[in-house]
Amino acid sequence: MSNIANKVVLITGASSGIGEATARVLAQKGARVVLGARRTDRLKTLAGAIEAGGGTARFRALDVTRLDDMEAFVAFAMAEFGRVDAIVNNAGLMPLSPLAARKIDEWNRMIDVNIRGVLHGIAAALPVMKSQGNGHVINVASIGGHLVYPTAAVYCATKFAVVAISEGLRQENDNIRVTVITPGVVQSELAATITDPGSQKMMEDFRRIAMPPEAIGRAIAYAISQPDDIDLSEIIVRPTASPY
Ligand code: NDP
Repeated sequence: MSNIANKVVLITGASSGIGEATARVLAQKGARVVLGARRTDRLKTLAGAIEAGGGTARFRALDVTRLDDMEAFVAFAMAEFGRVDAIVNNAGLMPLSPLAARKIDEWNRMIDVNIRGVLHGIAAALPVMKSQGNGHVINVASIGGHLVYPTAAVYCATKFAVVAISEGLRQENDNIRVTVITPGVVQSELAATITDPGSQKMMEDFRRIAMPPEAIGRAIAYAISQPDDIDLSEIIVRPTASPY
């Protein structure tokens, strides 16, 4: 994991679940992590714990749906550390429901966070990475970026979009590494965004085999640790018991 130490890694959605675990895993391997999310109380606690353990962490309030906020997040990292080696576009939400339920606000919210948030991360970090001559964009998609299931049409559409955007970014840049992280079911707060009772019940059953979020943190660390001329384009991580 020698290609991780001292790297400046920005993580969106670092206040819980996969983002939080990834921050801990990377900081433990010597990365300097910059944490973004809306719940800054959580980020403060996490950054404090990382620093208390001998790591390096900074945090800043971030709403990924706002391009100006994302640009300020990248500018903050530049002011603190002078470079951006990697950005983990992880923030996301998953309020599942059948299309007939017409939860149009929730559809729009998923599009704003899961797609626009990732695009904003790319838009903010890419100019810095291009001027450095290197960088690594890591986008957290989902198994739902490859298959569709009932109640998840819009969520899966946002994750299909993340896969497509990542592949386009990869093809367009020969000195920027691009990795899609494709998790199966993970222990986190993600299902808490579901308001449709039928979908909530279905998720309770589905999530019984969920894996710890550190499993995703380790996969992200593995992608970053590769030599600079090696791009792990996608990593799929599932619980062994997962049928999907
Ligand atoms: P959590 O709900 O635990 O974490 C989601 C994170 O996103 C939180 O830190 C939250 O922070 C942040 N977030 C939400 N909206 C915004 C916003 N507008 N601006 C900034 N941050 C925001 O879920 P997970 O850790 O599971 O989710 C992380 C990613 O993993 C998501 O993209 C999800 O789709 C993906 N994923 C998760 C799977 C699972 O089973 N858990 C499976 C496959 C993919 P805050 O509220 O403080 O802003």
